[in-house]
Amino acid sequence: MTSDFDLVVLGGGSGGLAAAFRAASHGARVALIAEGPLGGTCVNVGCVPKKAMWLAADLSHRIQLARELGFDLPAAPVTLDWPTFITHRERYIANIHTSYQQRLDAAGIAVLPLRGRLMPEGRIQCNDGVRVAAPAIVIATGGRPRRPLIPGVELGIDSDGFFGLRAAPARVAVIGAGYIAVELAGVLQSLGSRVDVFVRKRRLLESFDEDLGAQLVEDQRQHGIHCHFNYTLASLHAGQAGQVVLRDTHNRDTEPFDAVILATGRVPNSDDMGLEDAGVALDAAGRIVVDALQATTVQGVYAIGDVASDIALTPVAIAAARRLMDRLFGGQPEAKLDYADIATVVFSHPPIGKVGLTETEARLQFGDAVRVYRSSFRPMLHALAESPQRSLFKLVCVGDDERVVGIHLLGESADEILQGFAVALKRGLHKRDLDDTVAIHPTSAEELVLMR
Ligand code: NDP
Repeated sequence: MTSDFDLVVLGGGSGGLAAAFRAASHGARVALIAEGPLGGTCVNVGCVPKKAMWLAADLSHRIQLARELGFDLPAAPVTLDWPTFITHRERYIANIHTSYQQRLDAAGIAVLPLRGRLMPEGRIQCNDGVRVAAPAIVIATGGRPRRPLIPGVELGIDSDGFFGLRAAPARVAVIGAGYIAVELAGVLQSLGSRVDVFVRKRRLLESFDEDLGAQLVEDQRQHGIHCHFNYTLASLHAGQAGQVVLRDTHNRDTEPFDAVILATGRVPNSDDMGLEDAGVALDAAGRIVVDALQATTVQGVYAIGDVASDIALTPVAIAAARRLMDRLFGGQPEAKLDYADIATVVFSHPPIGKVGLTETEARLQFGDAVRVYRSSFRPMLHALAESPQRSLFKLVCVGDDERVVGIHLLGESADEILQGFAVALKRGLHKRDLDDTVAIHPTSAEELVLMR
């Protein structure tokens, strides 16, 4: 049993690492118990490899546009050699692992590559029998893909399985309508698959602005992705030659698919860790219940990231971790994360992003005081190449002084444009501030300061 630490962190993903580094920078003695590869979901089976695949897919679109515009490229589809690309992707990830390890060593953080279990009185028992104790414990064990409870579910793969693919399957079915379904459908279609998306409700990306979701469906249709709405999957069945058939609740079978991707949400990694026995309360979804200061129901035990938050985003976990450590070890008693107006982007083709309230949310809250501005346009490269892809930008304003409460972008470079405008919204942006700003021409971003 060792209690030479000020802090024990359970989990070596984005949140856990951020907590460990920030606490160490304040002089705390830190132990990090991290069973899996450093970087967790984001670095290994999430944001990083996904963005790499998205960049490859984006290049393939640009190669097509370049051909349209007169570049001398082969008429046949330009294909990606996945093994070559994956070598680059894995090298990039290996460099991140190396960098983390060097930073951990330099910060003097003790890393235990073990599985930890919370015991009463602030102790952690590792699976090799070692016990570690500290006055503060942070649980940052993240989440994992959730699979629906249907017969034949083992015939499908989830997002972890997607990153194991070594070639684009010819025919792909994607189940779900959230971030992961939309992103993986776009990547696979761009890299050579023919993709069908099966959605049990009537729209994609429920938490995003409805108009942009509808435009995204149209953009996807232009790319050849077929969305099936109001589809309830009942079971998966083995077809010939390793293919898989979907059956719905009306007993109707689809054509066979070479891969079925289950993008049906994620669950928190909160089970089998002794949490409830130690008195840590979980909500109905299995997430650790925390207050605004990330404190659980047990004194001295805190939780951050996907295991505790319904906003399952890497930067949120990192921001919450840093503020918690600033409060516990950095002499900043007020530090805590403000969860309002967090910007987020889905890496679809084109990307879609939002900060603040959707039009529907704003109308529910503010009724007739809501005023919406929108701009629908073809970005210049697409207009030049006569490609039908359109962008749709929306501003949601409230009151006579037109405070901007929501910014919604779908289109080329939306992912890069949104961050700066999110700062402005968070600082209390009004429509007149946008009107007073001189445009940068010709760009997509200028549409945000030219709306009337
Ligand atoms: P989401 O919560 O975004 O979406 C889950 C989807 O699965 C919903 O459309 C849901 O539909 C559907 N679904 C659930 N169960 C079933 C079922 N049995 N049959 C059919 N459909 C089903 O989860 P994701 O897994 O896509 O992503 C998890 C989280 O990870 C995201 O919320 C996001 O926070 C994060 N993430 C962020 C990314 C980014 O920042 N770019 C990228 C990827 C993930 P319904 O609405 O009907 O329940």
